[in-house]
Amino acid sequence: MRSTVPRGSPTPPLARRWAEAVAIRPFVPRLTPVIPVNDDEPDPSAVAAAAGILRRGGLVAFATETVYGLGADATNPEAVARIFLAKGRPSFNPLIVHADCVEMARDSVLEWPASADVLAREFWPGPLTLVLPRAANIPDVVTAGRETVGVRIPRSRVARALIQATGRPIAAPSANRSTGISPTEAWHVSNDLDGKIDLILDSGKTGVGIESTVLDLTTNPPRVLRPGSITVEQIREALQLEVLGQGAISPDSQAHSSPGQMDIHYAPRTPTFRIEREAFESVPREGRWVLIVLGETPSIDVPPGRRPDQQFHLQTPTEAESSLYSHLQAIDLSGVDFLVIVPPPDEPRWLAIRDRLWRASRPWPAGL
Ligand code: AMP
Ligand code: MG
Repeated sequence: MRSTVPRGSPTPPLARRWAEAVAIRPFVPRLTPVIPVNDDEPDPSAVAAAAGILRRGGLVAFATETVYGLGADATNPEAVARIFLAKGRPSFNPLIVHADCVEMARDSVLEWPASADVLAREFWPGPLTLVLPRAANIPDVVTAGRETVGVRIPRSRVARALIQATGRPIAAPSANRSTGISPTEAWHVSNDLDGKIDLILDSGKTGVGIESTVLDLTTNPPRVLRPGSITVEQIREALQLEVLGQGAISPDSQAHSSPGQMDIHYAPRTPTFRIEREAFESVPREGRWVLIVLGETPSIDVPPGRRPDQQFHLQTPTEAESSLYSHLQAIDLSGVDFLVIVPPPDEPRWLAIRDRLWRASRPWPAGL
């Protein structure tokens, strides 16, 4: 990596090295081409090139409003198998199918209940995945052998233009190596999957920033399998029906019904600990570390002499959702010794963030 620091000068402060790492990293020579596209007005020739790759069974990464997805033609089992290979994703973890319109979503499922109609009208295009009985055109490899499939219409224009130009539903998990942090910028994808995929469409940072809410409509009452920025309260309100939430955060208890909800998901490589505000005094004095405080309460005033190298305060769920993964990606690049997270309060609107944090971190070891 090129460095702007003259030889012999002291180690630059973390903040500067961090900025350098993040800025320089995208210009490392790459094997997988990256084409910039504008989400307000996606260039038709870039979209056509990407659609051609997908129609020929290749893999294209593109931004949805949640995170970057790694897309393949959902009706082509060999193409979908390549997603699992590129990501190192276990074959029991089903993929979400993305459509550009309700007709295409309906063609991917066997039944389209009235509740799906209501939710599609209220939340699509948007970050809500509906799990329904799958249609015959969706192969086993997409659903991990299940008789159900998760479908949604993404909000990003690039995603919808790409699906429309391909003319087929697109299976797309997050475009990162399995169990890693979901990418919210194109260079996160490049860092993880360069050389393993055919193309990356770079339309900048994603807006929502965490994965979609997954709702199972095959059960009565419907049940949220993965919390996201659309909350169970919003879904109840739209349906005027009972809807089961995820309940207490217990990653293992969800493993069977929604396999992506595994314990090791979304984890940074940097050792990451969560610690309650009251217990903060036990954070050690040594090492280079980063502190992320979540919630509206004032940030923590760390006594001098034990301050972190960087400190962030993410005050609202929307702010935290849109920037948490970008922070985690940058922290992994910066090479700090550890990350300490002070979680937000146990309130419904923080549920999605708490869910991701619990998977990304361990409790601070007692007695240190
Ligand atoms: P990803 O695309 O990486 O965010 O992962 C998609 C996640 O959606 C999976 O890991 C599951 O948690 C969930 N999902 C997708 N399809 C189904 C399905 N048919 N049944 C239950 N959960 C699903
Ligand atoms: Mg994922």
